[in-house]
Amino acid sequence: TVPLLAVKDLRVEFRTNDGVAKVLNGVSYHVDAGETLAVLGESGSGKSVTAQTIMGILDMPPAVVLGGEVLFHGEDLLSAKPARRMQVRGEGIAMIFQDALSALNPVFTVGFQIAEQLRVRRGLSRAEARKGAIDLLDLVRIPHAKQRVRSYPHEFSGGMRQRAMIAMSLALDPELLIADEPTTALDVTVQAQIMDLLRDIQRERDMGLILITHDLGVVAEVADRIAVMYAGRIVEQADVYALFRGPAHPYTEALLQSLPRLDLKGQDLKAIKGLPPSLTRIPPGCPFHPRCPRAVDRCHQEVPDFHPLPGDRHSACHFAHEMLVSGYPGSNPDK
Ligand code: SF4
Ligand code: MG
Repeated sequence: TVPLLAVKDLRVEFRTNDGVAKVLNGVSYHVDAGETLAVLGESGSGKSVTAQTIMGILDMPPAVVLGGEVLFHGEDLLSAKPARRMQVRGEGIAMIFQDALSALNPVFTVGFQIAEQLRVRRGLSRAEARKGAIDLLDLVRIPHAKQRVRSYPHEFSGGMRQRAMIAMSLALDPELLIADEPTTALDVTVQAQIMDLLRDIQRERDMGLILITHDLGVVAEVADRIAVMYAGRIVEQADVYALFRGPAHPYTEALLQSLPRLDLKGQDLKAIKGLPPSLTRIPPGCPFHPRCPRAVDRCHQEVPDFHPLPGDRHSACHFAHEMLVSGYPGSNPDK
């Protein structure tokens, strides 16, 4: 069967004054209706750039899509006409961002911004669109929706603004929602409420959800599958239970070892020594080798393939099989 969305071998670079940054180096993942795929990784790993490429909103002027496909119901959006891409945006795939305040227009009421989409894209009358906006604010559990529909974004709390953005993203009833760090800017209690809301709506509507996050706690609670990104590549992709039971990539393993540090919720992953490589100078061989406690000589020269493992699982480590069998490849895990 054709997945709802499949990204295939996406390659993107940014041409900057400092050189060519290879930001996506062959990213592939897929998500089905009713499924939540969590895309996990440190900042700069390419999570957001992948999402922006899917949406056709890569906003960096020096960005160049070198190749790959974004297949929505099997239709490649990268080669689709601009009008078709516009149509898919909102109706097929919608996206919400970390920073609701910059996504909402400060000079219009929240209700107007939602209603306007319904008027322009669905051809509803002013009155119908207003009613639709109130229903959507209700759906995202904004109390007193009838009154709040007249509020401006700055009159909402951070959590309420995030709800309003979710309402706006749902206006055209998309089949897939991409949520880019949707709770990062919020405090922990509000984060949990927003995640509950997203999960409930996703189930009710049988929507696909791509949840971009650096928070393993969130992943464990809501994801069906996980794609782990590093230096513009997916390094592991697995069912959430399988991945937590035993990682098939040393980077995933290091992330999992950060689990006791979930008190650092909301901060960036700091489990691993060293920094991600500069994308203008990705190391030869396995890009993770300078930080990998299990690296051997071969890792310095040979780029590992993103290869299949038993159980709809993939890893880009030379020793993935060995990790699954014994836990560890050659070198000492405690080093
Ligand atoms: Fe580490 Fe080598 Fe596997 Fe890369 S290929 S993750 S360096 S063991
Ligand atoms: Mg990001």
